[in-house]
Amino acid sequence: MSLLRRPKIEAKSPAQVRAMREAGLVVARTLQLARGWATAGATTAEIDRRAEQAIRAAGATPSFLGYHGFRGSLCISVNNEVVHGVPGSRVLVDGDLVSIDCGAIVEGWHGDAALSLVVGGEHGPAARAEDVAVMQDTETAMWAGIRALFAGGRLHAVGAAVEGSVRASRAERHRAGLPVSYGIVEEYVGHGIGTSMHMDPHVPNYAVKGKGPVVPMGATLAIEPMVTLGGIATRTLDDEWTVVTVDGARAAHWEHTVAVTEKGLWVLTAQDGGAAQLGAAFAPLA
Ligand code: MG
Ligand code: MG
Repeated sequence: MSLLRRPKIEAKSPAQVRAMREAGLVVARTLQLARGWATAGATTAEIDRRAEQAIRAAGATPSFLGYHGFRGSLCISVNNEVVHGVPGSRVLVDGDLVSIDCGAIVEGWHGDAALSLVVGGEHGPAARAEDVAVMQDTETAMWAGIRALFAGGRLHAVGAAVEGSVRASRAERHRAGLPVSYGIVEEYVGHGIGTSMHMDPHVPNYAVKGKGPVVPMGATLAIEPMVTLGGIATRTLDDEWTVVTVDGARAAHWEHTVAVTEKGLWVLTAQDGGAAQLGAAFAPLA
């Protein structure tokens, strides 16, 4: 256990965090729009095209487009697709469980966030109870992971909190008569973010040995659990991007870019900065 081998978490200055908020707001607004566009009959390519227009109209650059050759401004992952779904000719239908991931750059600073939804609404006639459950419980787990962050804390508290939340939610669903099985994906994890989309450290969504590096004030991290309704094994399709579950189970994915401030947290990709979810830990920079 050498201290030198621990990836250090970069600390941003308040001015840099404020700059990242601008990118985060573009991502937040684009995802809110995309949620409305993800209706039955829409193709994932149409949603992507409108998102690219929204990002550029805000004066930002889509960070996914061209990233290692990626052909979209969003990743749109449907049903058994976990992450990195490539927008294309697929037509959404009511009851699809869709995750939309968005990244934008403003003045060199990155924001990265994702949400999941059920096409036609979670109360719609085509919505499956287990899809609604995994969608809601993955979001709950993301917020549990975010709340585990504080200046001077340890990074691996995030994964422990995510895993604990998923377990608790599953137990609650079972008590309520919905016998869901949840798998927390391990091959894809959260990450540091700033002048690049993906920076050190990795942020596992499950309990790992060791406490991980110290979280400094000014840390900016993307917290992004992915939870399936089955096993955790995944494979990548021939398009070299789209990650699907091996067992065909559907999956949900939520993500926010979070800044650790002196007195708490600022969720840079939430329109309200995380105020509604964080309570006393909500501490945006002035
Ligand atoms: Mg993302
Ligand atoms: Mg990410």
